[in-house]
Amino acid sequence: MGTVLREVRRFDHPGFASIRIADGVIDRVGEPDATWPKGDEVVEARGRLAIPGLVNAHTHLPMVLLRGLADDAPLSVWLEQHVWPIERALEPDDVYWCSLLALAESIRCGVVAIADMYFHSDAVARATSESGLRALLSYGMIAPSLSEGGRAELEKAERFAAAWHGKAEGRIAVAVSPHAVYTCGDDVWRGAASLAAERGLMLHTHLSETRDEVDAWRQKTGLTPPAYLENLGVLAVPTLAAHCVHVDAADIDILARNGVRVAHCPKSNAKLGSGIAPVRAMRDRGVRVAIGTDGAASNDRLDVLEELRFACLVARALSEDARSLSSRDALSLATTEGRLALNLPKAGIEPGDPADVVLMDVEGSHTAPPHDARSTLAFASQASDVTDVFVGGRPLLRDRRLLTIDEERVQSEVARLAKRLRRD
Ligand SMILES: [Zn+2]
Repeated sequence: MGTVLREVRRFDHPGFASIRIADGVIDRVGEPDATWPKGDEVVEARGRLAIPGLVNAHTHLPMVLLRGLADDAPLSVWLEQHVWPIERALEPDDVYWCSLLALAESIRCGVVAIADMYFHSDAVARATSESGLRALLSYGMIAPSLSEGGRAELEKAERFAAAWHGKAEGRIAVAVSPHAVYTCGDDVWRGAASLAAERGLMLHTHLSETRDEVDAWRQKTGLTPPAYLENLGVLAVPTLAAHCVHVDAADIDILARNGVRVAHCPKSNAKLGSGIAPVRAMRDRGVRVAIGTDGAASNDRLDVLEELRFACLVARALSEDARSLSSRDALSLATTEGRLALNLPKAGIEPGDPADVVLMDVEGSHTAPPHDARSTLAFASQASDVTDVFVGGRPLLRDRRLLTIDEERVQSEVARLAKRLRRD
């Protein structure tokens, strides 16, 4: 038995069509006739816009706990006095509940897949598995060298990969995550790359996020972070690199020739005062750019629609050119490019595509009249317009009701945790 989404608009076609989902894929699209199987569940969705689900290519789910905490403190004070003491006190169960809160928010934002990096990764994976989302998950390693904690970090990453790669009906993949060039020594990086190569995993890291990072790295090694990683040989492994804000033309060539996929996180970069990545220049040189929210501590939302709107606006403002990121391009960062960044098969709204489908209400006052679906999505729609989310054909949100996460319970567990941490 399948599910038929009746009379939706498709974001890339005029008029109405019905979409039949069966066995996790889109089976038919068009006007139902006598050849369509009988007995399907029918979702009356007339007028709703059907889009491929969105991808958040870089986040730290459990950091929703830190949302709105000491927002205006300088980075070092914020990290040393607020973020790290709380993170040190977190137990796996805390990370589990915070992950579920972040996943609930993600589903409500029309997200079908996320790339996460954190610790207590088993708890993140357990929550993700229950949520029904797709994910590229990793344990974020921090160690100055193999002999100073690096071996233990690699063992944790390896155990996590053995436990979760390919699990949750194949929805979860695992990546190996040295946190950044400045938090992991070169032998740790080499170890991470060989672990990833041996197991057929990707690398997921932070790269050239701030001017200070790049300046310090040049001083220390004579190389920019991308050149340093290329020199180490680790970019031979498929790599997802968050940020890439301070990259010059030579860096962009390095990213392009190594097929590095970039997760552009413009709101986090703006909030922390880091700058804005040169998305247009990277795309022009053939670098694949996806979009990420980063953790909620530096965003504060996991709202990919808002992220892509901000990406468009800021790219145009900085370049003084309205053509620098079109609404079509922005949408592809959050869909096609996001899927590529996470190594997921492509998904549109065509027969044979994985049924990772999101329905949106585009009949609100703030989206009327519907001239062009792509423009509406990129500039006018908001997360609360998302009504239904399907991942692999399984409904996770129906008529704005979450089906896989008990949102009330999750919110009260996280509230209790925040209270406990304030007391500690
Ligand atoms: Zn990050």
